[in-house]
Amino acid sequence: MAQLSLRNIRKSFKSVQVLHGIDLDINEREFVVFVGPSGCGKSTLLRLIAGLDPITEGEFHLNGRLMNGVAPSRRGIAMVFQSYALYPHMDVYENMAFGARLMGLTPQEVEARIAEAARMLQLTPLLKRRPRELSGGQRQRVAIGRALVRKPDLFLLDEPLSNLDAALRSEVRLEIARLHQQLGATMIYVTHDQVEAMTLADRIVVMNQGRIEQVGSPRELYERPANTFVATFIGSPR
Ligand code: ADP
Ligand code: MG
Repeated sequence: MAQLSLRNIRKSFKSVQVLHGIDLDINEREFVVFVGPSGCGKSTLLRLIAGLDPITEGEFHLNGRLMNGVAPSRRGIAMVFQSYALYPHMDVYENMAFGARLMGLTPQEVEARIAEAARMLQLTPLLKRRPRELSGGQRQRVAIGRALVRKPDLFLLDEPLSNLDAALRSEVRLEIARLHQQLGATMIYVTHDQVEAMTLADRIVVMNQGRIEQVGSPRELYERPANTFVATFIGSPR
């Protein structure tokens, strides 16, 4: 059974429909990358999965459980945003502790989880710093660390590299790939960058105007794009 299933997911804002029936199964430990042009509905879909916005129509199951209507904090999902979304007045430790405390963990558990996440992301020497005293890459590692501390079944990452310069981008990209290996957690990753998609993904989902155009491994999409849109987007020679 798939870990995550999306069935005929539709989303409208007022009378404007932005997702037109998304159907997809995602397996445990998969690294699935959503690509597509700006405005095609990638972030909207992640927000529905995270529970930050209600689904207009359709069903979303995680580990066999219907998630429609389940509060975000009870989904076992953590999301990392493009903008880091760190609390500026809190140091790195407190930023990482905040969500974990809301889960009802003991202070000892919170501390142990932060120590582990900090070690994995090389943040240990930075725990007392405020976000403004960090580089962009360090800030994004804190945002990832904050997600890690919650030990989610599923990570959602929405263009996590797009605020970083080129050198940092490849550094943090490798970090994310390594984490996926180490944790064995399922990751759903959104980008409009073909290189990120091709290097990170087990499977790529190509979206266009609120619909899925094609799903497949990087190689399948490159060698057998379903249509001109996919071919152009993936950059295959067809
Ligand atoms: P992407 O992440 O692929 O760039 P989005 O999911 O952010 O695209 O947006 C998809 C469409 O939904 C866009 O046309 C956007 O303007 C619209 N949209 C997103 N959020 C809202 C909102 N809260 N209210 C109204 N329209 C929205
Ligand atoms: Mg977006």
